[in-house]
Amino acid sequence: MKFTDTHTHLYSESFDEDQSEMIQRATDAGVNRFFIPAIDSTYTGRMYALEKAYPEKIYLMAGLHPTHVKENYEEELSHVAQQFATRDFYAVGEIGIDLYWDKSSLSIQQDAFKRQIKLAKEYKKPIVIHCREAFDEVFEVLESEKGEDLYGIFHCFTGSKEQAQQAISYNMKLGIGGVATFKNGKIDQFLNEIDLNHIVLETDSPYLSPVPFRGKRNESSYLVLVAEKLATIYQKPLDVIARVTSKNADEVFFKRPA
Ligand SMILES: [Zn+2]
Repeated sequence: MKFTDTHTHLYSESFDEDQSEMIQRATDAGVNRFFIPAIDSTYTGRMYALEKAYPEKIYLMAGLHPTHVKENYEEELSHVAQQFATRDFYAVGEIGIDLYWDKSSLSIQQDAFKRQIKLAKEYKKPIVIHCREAFDEVFEVLESEKGEDLYGIFHCFTGSKEQAQQAISYNMKLGIGGVATFKNGKIDQFLNEIDLNHIVLETDSPYLSPVPFRGKRNESSYLVLVAEKLATIYQKPLDVIARVTSKNADEVFFKRPA
């Protein structure tokens, strides 16, 4: 059985002590592909080093994370554009809007989000969206940018059934992770009404560990716990969950829109 972790920060300082053992544990658990979202330019060197160490498993994205959109964001956006001009990436991510940490930067977050969507369209790449306490604001941008050339993943989806359907209407797959295993996570209550073809698996390591590791450091081997939860929600065997969600990830990261 092969699983795809579509969102994992394996280059995080949290793994400095045991990165290779952690990646081995994931590989032993059947997690054989890791899609790596960017945060800002300070992590670029770490991401490239990770790719160099595991070239057959690591798939890099480039982008500016919304909580890192600050006064210097023009420079950071230039760095992202420069990266795409130099080499290939699998997505522009993670990008979006986060109003949990800082509401005052909304206008520059919106600007950075829109400009990175334009970059994704230019290079015919998917986007990976980070949305926290900002569904209306994210949907407003997606509404203005929607079309055949806009597609990707709504990472760490935690919204309602209606918000799930709206995200899907913009060609987004829903990234489902540890929150699906939480008692108060809510999405487990309607997810079976959303076609499995719209779902991809993710850990968001080192954040958002699934039960029974909630509150502890997350790692990609725990993706299997999320997959097991989906097997229960969808009443399907685990290998079907593995196969369909990996196929969905392929559709996002390896498709070339017209
Ligand atoms: Zn992330």
